[in-house]
Amino acid sequence: MDLKSLTIDAARSAVQERKTTALALAEAHYARIQQEDGQIGAFLTLSKERALEQADRIDRMAAEGKTLPPLGGVPVGIKDVMSTRGVRTTAGSRILEKYIPPFDCTAVARMEAAGAVVLGKMNCDEFAMGSSNENSAYHPVRNPRDLSRVPGGSSGGSAAAVAADMAVVTLGSDTGGSIRQPASFCGVVGLMPTYGRVSRYGLIAFASSLDHIGPLAKTVKDAAIVLRTIAGRDPMDSTSADVPLPDFVAELGKPVHGMKLGVAKEYFGEGLDDEVRQAVESAIDKLKKLGCEIVQVSLPHTPYAIPTYYLIATAEASANLARYDGVRYSRRARGVKTLSEMYRRSRDEGFGAEVKRRIMLGTYALSAGYYDAYYLKAQKVRTLLTRDFDEAFRKVDAIVTPTSPTAAFRLGEKSNDPLAMYLADIYTVTADLAGIPGISVPCGETKDKLPIGLQILGKHFDEATILRVANAYEQAA
Ligand code: GLN
Repeated sequence: MDLKSLTIDAARSAVQERKTTALALAEAHYARIQQEDGQIGAFLTLSKERALEQADRIDRMAAEGKTLPPLGGVPVGIKDVMSTRGVRTTAGSRILEKYIPPFDCTAVARMEAAGAVVLGKMNCDEFAMGSSNENSAYHPVRNPRDLSRVPGGSSGGSAAAVAADMAVVTLGSDTGGSIRQPASFCGVVGLMPTYGRVSRYGLIAFASSLDHIGPLAKTVKDAAIVLRTIAGRDPMDSTSADVPLPDFVAELGKPVHGMKLGVAKEYFGEGLDDEVRQAVESAIDKLKKLGCEIVQVSLPHTPYAIPTYYLIATAEASANLARYDGVRYSRRARGVKTLSEMYRRSRDEGFGAEVKRRIMLGTYALSAGYYDAYYLKAQKVRTLLTRDFDEAFRKVDAIVTPTSPTAAFRLGEKSNDPLAMYLADIYTVTADLAGIPGISVPCGETKDKLPIGLQILGKHFDEATILRVANAYEQAA
């Protein structure tokens, strides 16, 4: 079976038309995982029993001649920060090593209700904190394009699995770039929806005001199909928005001719690798040839985005991670004598270095005496960054930028330098802070054959436009 060209529609219609079965598709993917994942490391847990049950259900529907739902029989992977009933969910952390959730994340439930077959749980940086997947407490993920390089993070397993044809699509999460950056490093499409578009119910929280769930896929159309599946109000998440849901797939085909695309000099400055710059500039040229008008815009507060993000994200993380106390969640230190020793040792043994660093940073930023200087100040700058985008979107329909300043770096290259790792998030954190949607679509390769990503940012709840631009680019390229 040729798994490379298997998109959602191809997989679903093959099952519908009885050219194959959902069971055979799942098994072909498990065989591929068996063959490839030993060296890549994209999966943390396989959910075979659940997958085969679902595949069987879909096959019976097809055999009875019933119309399959949009993801009928499609093998998918779920980042291990999303709860799956009866299937171990670790968030890439030792502290949740044995955690088996009693409920499903809404996005996962919606994928399954639409017929998806969940193959397993994808490796990621611990609690989604990282840009290289090296912070997974289990094992790193390697980039399928070059095994000496990182796949990006924190949704590294989700990106690598799609790139290596071990799943047709996957779900990832993006707090500061964790869908878009690994998508760009692995040469796949990654979509971060508007904040509130997709329910966060059942997503293990990192930074609640910044966390988003979204797809990693082989094509823009597949990303649109998944978004249509998981989007929409959920009573279980009060921040999920009750706004109209366009048909993202139908919108894809509309022409981009006459559309105004913004280019901001702040996204093409110092630190941007030359090959990435060239690839993104030629992608912008291509969009111009498709009839888009390129307009200069200014996002003047961009230089403050990294410190703002790393204050707000760590502050929220320090509060969210307080719940891992060894009492209600799985890991508890043994042989302790007092309650406070139990808390201390459970957390000390359960959390990795990066998570501890962030809990400390965030606790400091929130502490009495420093709150105004750090956390409150960061919130004000967040408003300024959002206003930058509001202002720019008065003039343009979407903004095009590089997704990441470089292509995939080598394992170990930045792991001892957290600041260098943080600074590489410069083009992605702004959209999370502003709550706007963004997509990364492949736009060529470096001379070492490493993928490069073009990022397209849109207005709040206007995923339709960025999907349309991404689709037009993908078709033309
Ligand atoms: N790399 C960023 C961080 O480490 C983003 C992570 C994410 O989006 N989950 O916080």
